[in-house]
Amino acid sequence: MNLILMGLPGAGKGTQADKIVEKYEIPHISTGDMFRAAIKGGTELGLKAKSYMDAGNLVPDEVTVGIVRERLSEDDCKGGFLLDGFPRTVAQAEALEEILAELDRKLDHVVYIEVPEDDLFKRLTGRWICPTCGATYHEIFNPPNEAGKCDKDGSDLIQRDDDKPETVEKRLNVNLEQTKPLVNFYEDKGYLRRVDGKQDIQYVFEAVDTLLKGSNR
Ligand SMILES: [Zn+2]
Repeated sequence: MNLILMGLPGAGKGTQADKIVEKYEIPHISTGDMFRAAIKGGTELGLKAKSYMDAGNLVPDEVTVGIVRERLSEDDCKGGFLLDGFPRTVAQAEALEEILAELDRKLDHVVYIEVPEDDLFKRLTGRWICPTCGATYHEIFNPPNEAGKCDKDGSDLIQRDDDKPETVEKRLNVNLEQTKPLVNFYEDKGYLRRVDGKQDIQYVFEAVDTLLKGSNR
């Protein structure tokens, strides 16, 4: 089972990735983990990546793609893999096609967990934190008893900069711009499988599971 998992921030991609790799016993390959492993292993590409990162620069595609090629050639990927966070661009997606062709493999599915932007916005901006005890709340999923106040100590809740509407909107827009061409790329190739991510976590997984089993039910 060779998979790519896609979804905008807040779509629940991480949770679904955990469930998929557990059930299908395939390695979860995220870009961050891959970089860390290559750097730790001191591979040539790992060191190259590190030099860019240490200088505060983006790692160029050729290095990233090389690291992906090495990772996908490892033994634990023989029975399949779940790629998460790669590819990020159409150029990377094209490079991945070449890597897989070299390895005599092909993608089975690109699973796109789809949640309307308005809902993502609500999910991502709903988080509030108590500055006194560190308790976290969510306006929709875990609201405090009294709006804006901590249940435990009554402190006024605050919002982290990352969770503020302006920041969230920017992040969503950047991600959306990046994701659209990729979604089109995989749609054209016939790999794209859309899953409704608005449902509860368990139903989302059931939907993913059903499509991975190749059933049309
Ligand atoms: Zn508190």
